[in-house]
Amino acid sequence: MAASKNLVRSESGKIRRVVVVGGGLAGLTTVIKLCEAGVPVDLFSLVPVKRSHSVCAQGGINASVNTKGEGDSPQVHLEETAYGGDFLANQPPVKAMCDAAPGIVFLLDRMGVPFNRTPEGLLDFRRFGGTLFHRTAFAGATTGQQLLYALDEQVRRWETVDLEDDKGDRVPGEKMVRKFEAWDFVGLVLDDHGTCRGIVAQDLKNTEIKAFPGDAVCLATGGVGIIFGKSTNSVINTGTATSTAYQQGACYGNGECIQVHPTAIPGADKLRLISESVRGEGGRVWVPRDPTEQRRGRDVPESQREYFLEEKYPGYGNLVPRDIASRELFKKCFHEKRGVYNRQSGKNENEVYLDVTHIPSETLRKKLAGVLEIYEKFAGEDPYTNPMRVFPAVHYTMGGLWVDFERSANGSLVTGSPRNQATNIPGLYAVGEADYQYHGANRLGANSLLSCIWGGMATGPAIASYRKNLARSAWDMPSSLFERAEKREQKKYESILAMDGEENAYQLHQELAHTMLVDCTIERHNATLDKVLAKIDEIDGRMKRVGVTDTVQGKMNQGAQFVRHMQNMVVLARVIAQGARNRDESRGAHYKPDFPQRDDENFLRTTMAMHQGAENGSPATVRYVRELDYDLLGTPVHVTDAVDISLVKPRARKYDTAGAASAVAQSGPKASPAAQNAPAASTEKA
Ligand SMILES: Cc1cc2nc3c(=O)[nH]c(=O)nc-3n(C[C@H](O)[C@H](O)[C@H](O)COP(=O)(O)OP(=O)(O)OC[C@H]3O[C@@H](n4cnc5c(N)ncnc54)[C@H](O)[C@@H]3O)c2cc1C
Repeated sequence: MAASKNLVRSESGKIRRVVVVGGGLAGLTTVIKLCEAGVPVDLFSLVPVKRSHSVCAQGGINASVNTKGEGDSPQVHLEETAYGGDFLANQPPVKAMCDAAPGIVFLLDRMGVPFNRTPEGLLDFRRFGGTLFHRTAFAGATTGQQLLYALDEQVRRWETVDLEDDKGDRVPGEKMVRKFEAWDFVGLVLDDHGTCRGIVAQDLKNTEIKAFPGDAVCLATGGVGIIFGKSTNSVINTGTATSTAYQQGACYGNGECIQVHPTAIPGADKLRLISESVRGEGGRVWVPRDPTEQRRGRDVPESQREYFLEEKYPGYGNLVPRDIASRELFKKCFHEKRGVYNRQSGKNENEVYLDVTHIPSETLRKKLAGVLEIYEKFAGEDPYTNPMRVFPAVHYTMGGLWVDFERSANGSLVTGSPRNQATNIPGLYAVGEADYQYHGANRLGANSLLSCIWGGMATGPAIASYRKNLARSAWDMPSSLFERAEKREQKKYESILAMDGEENAYQLHQELAHTMLVDCTIERHNATLDKVLAKIDEIDGRMKRVGVTDTVQGKMNQGAQFVRHMQNMVVLARVIAQGARNRDESRGAHYKPDFPQRDDENFLRTTMAMHQGAENGSPATVRYVRELDYDLLGTPVHVTDAVDISLVKPRARKYDTAGAASAVAQSGPKASPAAQNAPAASTEKA
């Protein structure tokens, strides 16, 4: 393949930038790695990048540094991640991530992230779900914020760095990064061969729609929790960008794998997470043994409490993986009707206690202040002296845009291969919660911040080598290509502004969210999933009769923007529900009581969904494929839905005894519930 000779300027003399959409941890890391490789970037974000949803992350980031001498290692981390995800994740990318994790935490430390430290000055690590090891580095309970701000600072630096041409001369007025905040990605620019050549985005301040060339495009646009209504996600997490890419031909992987977190609290706008780190620091989950108990939690004597996770799972106790914990909480509240009495509502609610009152307040302040503050503010009760009341909430999107990888001889990734993180649309990459790659059917706590940063570290070099070998720069494509894409999106937007039907998009969102939440989360039944799919088709039809609530042009218009996002949410809802309907087994977060076992013979495979547009009045459908062919830099690539399980052999998941996760883990620390709940040695924040 003939590569463009000049890497900074295109043949026609333009600066050859790539586009990154998303300024969370995944997007920012990708930008940094691209800049380090000398690739100029245009960075787009719906919100100011420092408000990206990553800022909400509380508990920490995993890395097997083993400072506590427990025998932890990247190999154990790999095994536990594969095992925790019920073997649905391709293992080479997971291995690469776990191997890189200690270096990533040290790098973040050097960037100035104020990680908690032990009294000896070492980085401190806490426990998280699905492991017996202290593997999670943390900055109090605001880890995401500290990480995001540290990366933001690095990107800001690149925004001031002058771009140099191929001879090393400064290009006047051109910086390495140009940032576009408050822009909504609305579509890809695809050339006649289906190669991605840029994006179309809308400036939310004045609604201008504009096409931007990019030698490659990376979507780092986060998860899709808002499809389920209120969740622990930020309200912008509608999945609009990944849905759009899917509708333009990108494959969507494992859409049905949606994580419900066991411990959240209500809020008017969203459900606020009470991080797993609370249990990692010794928080205990319980309900009164007597279902008619009406005393305050703190007044219920120890002997009258049922610590149901510790009793059923003596090994991992309160730190069983989230899919298991959420199902147990659900069972306790919905099936056994054991939810605790709520003095405000005067009745038993679907809530259980999460108790940290036995932990010294000094320790709580040093390690969990951020999250306990959230509880106090939104629940109006002091968690230092009262057990918190929590319930499960939709939390994380394991599925996402399907992305490829190139396996190296040692079972890891070929560094800098343009296949890493590539979607099946040539030139389009995806990373972070927007991709499907690292967590299989269930993500382990504190592995997401890691997969975002590691993913960015893999994506930057992948895009750099793709761009280096690109025969023709996007910046040399005829302007008509971009004008056409701009017009297409302009027309779509105008058709939304012209909608004057009787339906209300916000009401339809509530209906969609209700059906998805009630029938497509913790327990899934085929008969109800059929109803969910029928409801999605119904909502899809009614969306055509929406009346837009705001028709203003040339100024911010959230009403029209919401209609667009809602149209895209309906499409992804169908991918999630149909994927759940098809997967007749139980695996990780996907649980069907009628098919309670994992079925490796039939379902140890990636769900690969392709969009089939609406035809002749019938609604859009999902086409599931078992294999995929795409072209990368002139080389045909053929992939199948087989999961690469070459490194850790699948075996039944069993968390009721200590160390069940792996042979290596079995020789690791044996955590008894008592040991887990003992207050940890006091640590100081750096
Ligand atoms: C409350 C909470 C606590 C968590 N705690 C932890 C934890 O302790 N440890 C852990 O590992 N994980 C945690 N997670 C998960 C983790 O925070 C996320 O998975 C991760 O931060 C996602 O990062 P990201 O970069 O992929 O996307 P995000 O941070 O969601 O960023 C998405 C970016 O895309 C942009 N974007 C989206 N759509 C568009 C569009 N249409 N146009 C332009 N831009 C767009 C947004 O503006 C944003 O900049 C937590 C999650 C929640 C909800």
